[in-house]
Amino acid sequence: MKSIIFLLVLFLATNLTFAQNEQQKPNFILVVADDLGFGDLSLNGSKQISTPNIDKLAAEGMNFTQGYVSAPVCSPSRAGLLTGRYGVSFGHDNNLGGNQPGFDPQYLGLPLTETTIATRLRNLGYVTGLIGKWHLGYEPQFHPLKRGFDEFWGYTGGGHDYFDSKPDGKGYKAPIECNYKTPQKITYITDDKGDECVDFIKRHKNEPFFLFASFNAPHAPMQATEADLELFKNIKNKKRQTYCAMVYRLDINVGKIMETVKKEGLLENTIIVFISDNGGPVDTNGSINAPLNGQKGILLDGGIRVPFIMNWKGKIPAGTTYENPVISLDFAATFFNLAGGKQTDKVKFEGVDLMPFILDKNAGIPHEILHWRFTISAAIREGDWKLIRLPDRLPMLYNLSEDISEQNDVAMQNIDRTKTMLKSLGIWDVHLPHPVFLEGAVWKARQLNLYDKKYPLVQPN
Ligand code: CA
Repeated sequence: MKSIIFLLVLFLATNLTFAQNEQQKPNFILVVADDLGFGDLSLNGSKQISTPNIDKLAAEGMNFTQGYVSAPVCSPSRAGLLTGRYGVSFGHDNNLGGNQPGFDPQYLGLPLTETTIATRLRNLGYVTGLIGKWHLGYEPQFHPLKRGFDEFWGYTGGGHDYFDSKPDGKGYKAPIECNYKTPQKITYITDDKGDECVDFIKRHKNEPFFLFASFNAPHAPMQATEADLELFKNIKNKKRQTYCAMVYRLDINVGKIMETVKKEGLLENTIIVFISDNGGPVDTNGSINAPLNGQKGILLDGGIRVPFIMNWKGKIPAGTTYENPVISLDFAATFFNLAGGKQTDKVKFEGVDLMPFILDKNAGIPHEILHWRFTISAAIREGDWKLIRLPDRLPMLYNLSEDISEQNDVAMQNIDRTKTMLKSLGIWDVHLPHPVFLEGAVWKARQLNLYDKKYPLVQPN
């Protein structure tokens, strides 16, 4: 009898431990803004746009002052974000332009050789959901439901109309796809996505989940509600006014997600990340990257350094900042480790698990070197030094600790460093595979102009 009771107690204890371990797997919410300017949050100095919810996410978590993405445009940045590897490491250099002669449309999407963090987390027992923009391939083999997501409410393209979709619509009027219900009619898409995220969290609160909250705000088309526009009526430039209203509405929906996590009692078991997929395209949506120079599409910091926040109540110390360079590739590695994933030869992240660095368990820095390449541009960052290589001029070298706005090219004064970094960048570049699809040719010439433009480097009042 005693031994039966002993076995029963042992059985219950084992199961309880197992249940607790399962419970302890943290949830992940990856909130991604689209084409948001670095300086367009009150957190980062905006005087025109108040973003209390995103600011609160940082105030109750950690703000990364030097957070990068792996590409200056949407699709390759997202390819990096979801795989934890530079898109250029597997031929995903570019946006999904129209198919070029000699290229096979069957390859126009996130290469099937790559495994997304959604797949990896699903294999570790997570339920996974994508709400919003995909932009990693239109062909059936690239569909999010085939790339690790259990649930999808959104569209496979690179953007969407904020008010309208048509059953037979193409491009930005494409119908909303959903595999778990008949999608509701769009009201204002940023609100609709926020509502879907809330619904996802509520439905899956009792199991470990990964939610990719993929907003298109404030990506063009520039569309805001009349009520939100009214709040920014003092801004005379119509594009900028609309942009501010769009970011304001994004902030409200980030707040909705945070409030739901809190109400459902999940705060201590949920990591919420907020980033933009690339810098603000000052020319097309009226964004401001100040104090960073440059914009979407180029490798000055305004194209690749973005708002970058991690929040995990009780684990990541509140109200802290992290100053060393990090990159969006780090999230896949961080999530995988936290979910109990085991590194094998088949798991090849180029990002790193950030937790030991941000919790001071590792005195080193996450990345000695970061690289970028986008069509004609390439760049390398080593410590505070950043070198940019373009086809029509000598390489440019900046010291970011003294020159955050990349105004003073010091390549000639540091010729040995310039040579060493140029060589290191070149060696990295020539060992990358060819792209599996090309960017529209217009982007090549356009980039040169974008490097020569003047950008706002201080915040307007
Ligand atoms: Ca984008």
